[in-house]
Amino acid sequence: MPSGRVHNLINIGAYSVLAAAALVASRQELIVVTQAQALTFTLGFAVGTFLLSPDLDLAEGRVDSKRHWGILGVLWVPYGLLFSHRGLSHSWVLGPLTRLAYVALMVALVVGLLRYVAPGVPLPEVPQPVSLKVVVPVVAGYYLSQWLHLVADGVRPDHGMKRSSRKIRRR
Ligand SMILES: [Zn+2]
Repeated sequence: MPSGRVHNLINIGAYSVLAAAALVASRQELIVVTQAQALTFTLGFAVGTFLLSPDLDLAEGRVDSKRHWGILGVLWVPYGLLFSHRGLSHSWVLGPLTRLAYVALMVALVVGLLRYVAPGVPLPEVPQPVSLKVVVPVVAGYYLSQWLHLVADGVRPDHGMKRSSRKIRRR
């Protein structure tokens, strides 16, 4: 299993190749990539690579992606305890969603607590409705960063499904 550092290097390398290819292809007018799309894709990819890596399932111990959170890294300890290493957290579709859901839960808890403790404090508002033009490239960048990690780990896209179907067969 590659270390966190190696995962980061693989992702940065793949991003550079993709960015160069996208640049060439848009120069040749084969594709159209707006600046906003490139920026939001990059954001999703960077967050997925450095902050929301599948290896957060090891956050009960020391792991690179937890370190990137600084003191907030302790917030990931329950996630590390909840998810076994290379289990559901390392599946292709649900795995990345578990981390997004976990972040959403943490944000909701903090907001709830703030509303309760200090009801007068103004909170930053999410612009409504959130445009698909933003969501699609962010999600694409995020998922690509996760899939590169799984490929480097040697995890196949049917990871997890096989186990559950085996369980069903056994019954
Ligand atoms: Zn991993």
